[in-house]
Amino acid sequence: MERGLDSSQLRVNVSGIMRRPFARSRLRAGLLLCRGERGMVEDAAGSPVLLDLELESAPDGVRVRGSITGLLPATCTRCAAPFQWRLELDVDEFFCRSTLPLLTPQGPRESEIPAEDVYLLDGDTIDLNDMVNDLILLSLPIRMLCRKDCRGICPRCGADLNQGDCDCRSDEVDPRLEVLRRWLDREGEQ
Ligand SMILES: [Zn+2]
Ligand SMILES: [Zn+2]
Repeated sequence: MERGLDSSQLRVNVSGIMRRPFARSRLRAGLLLCRGERGMVEDAAGSPVLLDLELESAPDGVRVRGSITGLLPATCTRCAAPFQWRLELDVDEFFCRSTLPLLTPQGPRESEIPAEDVYLLDGDTIDLNDMVNDLILLSLPIRMLCRKDCRGICPRCGADLNQGDCDCRSDEVDPRLEVLRRWLDREGEQ
């Protein structure tokens, strides 16, 4: 059963930098990734993706900044050819402590757990798997084209039009061009 992204390289102990605010540590990790049915997955047949991240502690969590670069195996939406999709993402995310000491008139108390759409620290551990998965998936367009001007496949014969025109195209003449062709033929006769 395929799981989502679940790399041990992306679970990092941050107790060192959490001892004082604005302490930093760097995480560089290389993963072989491909896109599975349930999101990004590690796969020996995947393509290399490099994460270069800086983790910085704050009083209420850890800020994660840096980049995700690399290639993903993809299939062109238009011509169905396999190709490598280039990833170049900037990362700037925040991981909150799951509970914060709040100062209230009655003294310090634990705050509510933050809203669902923020990433949470798990004790002294920052788990970047969901963040990496989300950032990559959100960056991918619905239509992934092998190149901007991919000509796709002929709907009649199935030929890959990037390799050249197929024979069906010549007998389907645009009516506007047909008028022009007839005019040119007449000119040629004079
Ligand atoms: Zn294509
Ligand atoms: Zn054709």
